[in-house]
Amino acid sequence: MSTQSATDSFADLGLPTALQKALAKVGYETPSPIQARSIPPLLEGRDLIGQAQTGTGKTAAFALPILARLQPGGKLPRALVLCPTRELALQVAEAFQSYARYLKNFHVLPVYGGQDMHLQLRQLKRGVDVVVGTPGRLLDHLQRGSLNLSELQTVVLDEADEMLRMGFIDDVEKILGHSTSKHQTVLFSATLPQPILRVSKKFLSVPAHIKIQAKAATVDTIDQQYWLLNNNQKLDALTRLLETEPFDGVIVFTRTRGTTVELAEKISARGYACAPINGDMSQSVREQTIQRLKKSKIDILVATDVAARGLDVDRISLVVNYDIPYDAESYIHRVGRTARAGREGRAVLFITHRERRLLRSIEKASGKEIPPIRLPSAEEVLAKRVQRFKQDVIASLAEPVSPLLVSLVDELCVETGTSPQALAASLVKLLQRDLPLELPAGLDKKSAKTRDRGKREDRKPRKSRGKKSADAVDVEMESFRLEVGRQHEVSAGNIVGAIANEIDIDSQYIGHIDIHEDYSTVELPSGMPKELFQHLKKVRVLGRPLDISRLDKAAGRSGKPGKFSRKKPGGDKAPGAKRKRSVDGKKARSTRKRQE
Ligand code: AMP
Repeated sequence: MSTQSATDSFADLGLPTALQKALAKVGYETPSPIQARSIPPLLEGRDLIGQAQTGTGKTAAFALPILARLQPGGKLPRALVLCPTRELALQVAEAFQSYARYLKNFHVLPVYGGQDMHLQLRQLKRGVDVVVGTPGRLLDHLQRGSLNLSELQTVVLDEADEMLRMGFIDDVEKILGHSTSKHQTVLFSATLPQPILRVSKKFLSVPAHIKIQAKAATVDTIDQQYWLLNNNQKLDALTRLLETEPFDGVIVFTRTRGTTVELAEKISARGYACAPINGDMSQSVREQTIQRLKKSKIDILVATDVAARGLDVDRISLVVNYDIPYDAESYIHRVGRTARAGREGRAVLFITHRERRLLRSIEKASGKEIPPIRLPSAEEVLAKRVQRFKQDVIASLAEPVSPLLVSLVDELCVETGTSPQALAASLVKLLQRDLPLELPAGLDKKSAKTRDRGKREDRKPRKSRGKKSADAVDVEMESFRLEVGRQHEVSAGNIVGAIANEIDIDSQYIGHIDIHEDYSTVELPSGMPKELFQHLKKVRVLGRPLDISRLDKAAGRSGKPGKFSRKKPGGDKAPGAKRKRSVDGKKARSTRKRQE
């Protein structure tokens, strides 16, 4: 199966002009492989199984055909998207909104636990075209009769394997069972475990099966590393890389045209010779930019994949994947822009937590492990920064200085009564605005974490890396009692799903669950803020309130910070009531299974 885009443009895929215009506005240049291959069968109304992870562009792959086939402004929803978490539901709803920018009367409604029910009821009554929701809350609406699925054209199960992992699969089946209309069913999942295959056999009819596989390999002379960070840390991370990494030429890859321009401006503001290159630019401008790179008039190019296709410049010594590529094959193409003409090269991949799976598939496809980045210390960064600054000053001293500037300095010293030395220091401070001599605190913390993880992973054999150590977390745990038990037919999955969605906590932080006859116990990170605790009391599972309570009343006073304490400092816990444990999604799951 090829991983190449079957087409170079959204127009070729037969999407209406209103959508093409919106895509141009968000800056997408070409369809990603999963989009190129899924959109045509979906436009024909076929059922589809798409094996794709977050980061591949799967949202647009199903959202665009839904929008293309929709007559907006109807009373009842025409499309329903089921997502495992409210975070994803919101993201998907936002994506719909941005692609539907030029469609009149279009309404999308995210529906998830923890949000005001009345608001959702009002909006559903008013009429929506697309509902995007988490299974628990959707089922609530179906049971209340506030969600009518009789006019559905399309149902999408997004990240189906995650829904399975979080214990939603029964809810998903119930929701699918509620839809009486003849509709298209689409299932996106990174993996296809047995229960997902069973659901697909039950609810999908002769589906198209789209799987993106890569077969190319990377070059051995490329030193590759990844950097786990948040989106808002990327610019600081890039700055730090550029400051500490010796480089000749650099390509920074981003996903959209807009980002190439914005980022190139920011990099230039930090004193580097940098230019953007993207598909919006005419061929001649692109060629001129590449010539400038070849002749060392600029050192850094910020490019989209399209613009950098086939780019061959010997002096590229560093490739930065600022935004993760859609698939392994684009990654391999990107990093192949370095280590040209027998030289060595380095590639750094920025990834956010949600994108970690894509890293694994890149490793698998390239047959090469990509280790975490080894970051220089803050002192090293500062030393390089100072050194660079000195070099710039020394270079500028060699140039003639206008007498006007000299007299301006004299004037300032007299007027302010400052010594030339103090004045020079204050000018240095002014010059440092874009590159302060202190490092951004947030990034430093994160970097230290990544660095530590790197150390840990080095000691572990390949097999355990990525599976356990990437997902496992050490946190203080506290035990809670929930007023739902075996007699209410609750499963550990129900509990994980409800808690994870209602208080927006990653399921990996939910520890051991014991299900008893009329109650259950669950381990959660200690120091839960009061408002979350109050909220969880009211959350319902299988129609019953959890009515959560602390197992040991002493719990919740003093102790080491748990996951919640980071969100809200000053949480208080009792050391005796908690255990420090390593929780990882996989282990916790199997423990839960035994309880069921
Ligand atoms: P997803 O895999 O749907 O979560 O998408 C990951 C990211 O890729 C999102 O930020 C999208 O906005 C972006 N994206 C999706 N399709 C394209 C495209 N064809 N060109 C550029 N960016 C895209």
